[in-house]
Amino acid sequence: MGKTVTGRHGRIMVVDGSTVSREIVARIFANVLDEVEIFSCSSGEEALEELSTRPYDLVSTSLMLPDMDGLDLCRRLRRSQSHHYIPVVVISGDADERLLKEGFSAGVTDYFDKSQGYPAFANFILDFCQRNSGLVGRVLYVEDSRTAATVTLRIMEKQGLRVTHVTSAEDALEHVRRLREEGDSEEDGFDIVVSDFYLKNEMTGGDLLHAIRIRYNFSRQELPLLMITGSDDVRTQIEAFHAGANDFVNKPLVEEILMARLRSMLMIKQQYDALQRQASKMERVASTDTLTGVRNRYFLREHGEKMLKARRNHPFWVMIVDIDHFKQINDNLGHLIGDHVLAAMGQLLLEHFVDGEVVRFGGEEFAILLPRLPRDDALRRADGLRQAAEALQPEGVRFTISIGVAGSEDHPQADLNQLIRMADQALYASKGGGRNRVSLTTAEGESVPL
Ligand code: GH3
Ligand code: MG
Ligand code: MG
Ligand code: MG
Repeated sequence: MGKTVTGRHGRIMVVDGSTVSREIVARIFANVLDEVEIFSCSSGEEALEELSTRPYDLVSTSLMLPDMDGLDLCRRLRRSQSHHYIPVVVISGDADERLLKEGFSAGVTDYFDKSQGYPAFANFILDFCQRNSGLVGRVLYVEDSRTAATVTLRIMEKQGLRVTHVTSAEDALEHVRRLREEGDSEEDGFDIVVSDFYLKNEMTGGDLLHAIRIRYNFSRQELPLLMITGSDDVRTQIEAFHAGANDFVNKPLVEEILMARLRSMLMIKQQYDALQRQASKMERVASTDTLTGVRNRYFLREHGEKMLKARRNHPFWVMIVDIDHFKQINDNLGHLIGDHVLAAMGQLLLEHFVDGEVVRFGGEEFAILLPRLPRDDALRRADGLRQAAEALQPEGVRFTISIGVAGSEDHPQADLNQLIRMADQALYASKGGGRNRVSLTTAEGESVPL
């Protein structure tokens, strides 16, 4: 359970008549979960008494208690004011007949068969807590009726959801637009949308849904939507599904049903987010050179030409950087020192070109893709890099670099490969001109040291 959304530590109640079992169960909870407080009781009455004084996040009870059984305890909790949502796990000696038959109606969340052994219990708990973690998420809630909104807001917020309430689809759409265009942000981002279908202004919840799916291209996984409809409004419900709603709830809202639907939508969204994170991590790993930390050629192949095309009317520069007499560094100081020099060079490049992309192009050769700058600025940046490399002296090793530059300002028709070839030609001019300098391939195709 770890930390709950309210910031306090998770609190777990363990109820068992046997001191030994109680201690074992409590110890397993403490081992498996971080930062939980565990309170144990030897009877149902004692547990109910304690639960009426403080909030808990989970109850684990054995099926047989000295004064009642676990099912009775569960039934009484479901009727209580303070804990009627609380997950209840029943631990029994075997898959008791009564537990199977009555467990559901008593409101048991899950049960564990003790005969599987305590190591299995640890796994069960981990899995259980993942399935029953508190509702963490942000909701964009569209409801024009103040009365309905007040009640529903209270329900959602009580469960730990963070809700942004708007009263029209038009206002909601502005939030959706910002999410798409400016990306998710902690202050006004959201994970799911809950919208009333009937709204006072021109746009209905259906129009909002359509815009979310079609205009802003959010899939059901990326931005789930729950539609609130009239109880016998089957046509609207069907339409909502066609338009890409994940689910619907009827008015008047039933608290448990609303929460169950929100829970499953948040799970969809969380899985989507996890997959996205995983994918972008893989992409980063696959496109990063391990020694220098800059991009590798895979990145250049995948994204280089796209970057050039995205420049629109702005200039776009390609620079090729090559370390001078690098072979001598290897020969005189060893390959390992050579590697350190390369790593330091990679770091320097990343610091110098945060507004561009740095690619390890070959062994001791780097390419820089730099958008937007006018020619003079680009050349000044190149010379700034040259000077910084000369002053760097990693591990006390002095070295210099030569740079070749070519840009779309001089070669508006060139594709990325042609710009690279021209920058390489300019690099060759820098080497021929005595190294430690910057050259440009001009519009006339001449490569000249500056
Ligand atoms: P120039 O000024 O003409 O560029 O001379 P140079 O010695 O730098 O050029 P050359 O291309 O002959 O040598 C590059 C050397 O870089 C050869 C190669 O062994 C070395 N090299 C390539 N990759 C690595 C690497 O990952 N680590 C180390 N330490 N050396 C590398
Ligand atoms: Mg309405
Ligand atoms: Mg070299
Ligand atoms: Mg080289």
